[in-house]
Amino acid sequence: MNRARTYLDWNASAPLLPEARAAMLAALDVVGNPSSVHGEGRAARGIIEDAREQVARLVGARPQEVVFTSGATEANNAVIWSGRDAIFAAAIEHDSVLAPIAVAGARHGTIAVGADGVVRAEGLDEPFAAVLASTTRALVSLQFANNETGAVQPVAEVAALARTYGLRVHSDATQAVGRVAVDFVSLGLDYLSLSSHKLGGPKGAGALIVRDGAPLVPLIAGGGQERRQRAGTENLAAIAGFGAAARVALAGLDGYARVAKLRDQLEGEVVRATPHAVIIAADAPRLANTSCIALPRRAAETLVAALDLSGIAVSAGAACSSGKVAQSHVLTAMGLAPDIARSAIRISMGPTTTDNDIAAFLAAWKHITRSVAGAHTRAA
Ligand code: PMP
Repeated sequence: MNRARTYLDWNASAPLLPEARAAMLAALDVVGNPSSVHGEGRAARGIIEDAREQVARLVGARPQEVVFTSGATEANNAVIWSGRDAIFAAAIEHDSVLAPIAVAGARHGTIAVGADGVVRAEGLDEPFAAVLASTTRALVSLQFANNETGAVQPVAEVAALARTYGLRVHSDATQAVGRVAVDFVSLGLDYLSLSSHKLGGPKGAGALIVRDGAPLVPLIAGGGQERRQRAGTENLAAIAGFGAAARVALAGLDGYARVAKLRDQLEGEVVRATPHAVIIAADAPRLANTSCIALPRRAAETLVAALDLSGIAVSAGAACSSGKVAQSHVLTAMGLAPDIARSAIRISMGPTTTDNDIAAFLAAWKHITRSVAGAHTRAA
């Protein structure tokens, strides 16, 4: 990465770990098809099964429960499209959960979210019980942590409640895995999605964890790969890089205590420099690496562009769909005033973020918030 730049957009994509790069380069020279029985094929198969072991270990699952996919978007789609006829999801889910629910016409209910960005389990008994009476193919989908605010959701609590009514439970843990301990078994889940590039692996790889015995209709049918749950010759190099990143991420979870300190320092300084700034979801349990900050009456896009010119990469709202300037559905669901929702930027860090990165951000923030006061103010 360019040394002059300060990258604070880890929730969009984390820098590739050197271990992941090395594993990918080695895998590129493995000629065999992992489904072939000869030596070359078995060498490729070995790489995939090693990676499966690492990914399983990272999330406390069994290797045979790991289905490699092209990323968390595919993993989420696979769960949603798997013959569900009633789905409960939180309004703050990622679009890769909400959009397929809308297309499949399977939305049954929305799980309410509080002003702090955390969903509330109270009041779910009745709707869960009602759906149990009408179908056996219902699903509850609740993300582990939000990509925009970092707010951590009560997944184990909601999953326990859903299970008492016999509903299947999925969690999109894309932003949490590798940043906090995530244990598939103790969370009581049937399905869990994760993505390689959020934890230092390559883009375009991910996994769906499917509890032994939980039904899954393959989203992609064809050959018998991934225990017939996801057809297609595996993306060997990407999976190798994903596995290496998973190993490093598990060993490095402790590093996030330092990241939390950097985040707190950043937020403290921002509020000192611009007392009208609002730290979103400040009172929620949050990922250590994520800070969502609104500067009322300043358009987020303008702040992001000004920071970019100063060498700082952050994002406005969800950065996953490039060019999208629409107001964040997450902040809207939290009941934030449009003025605040439109002015929120996301700063996200990782284990290699330094004090200097934070200092560079703060210097740029102070400069920009002083200098653009008039010209870039959005009409209220
Ligand atoms: N879910 C969440 C919560 C995310 O933040 C993202 C990526 N922004 C995804 C799913 C999609 O992941 P991928 O990029 O691997 O498709």
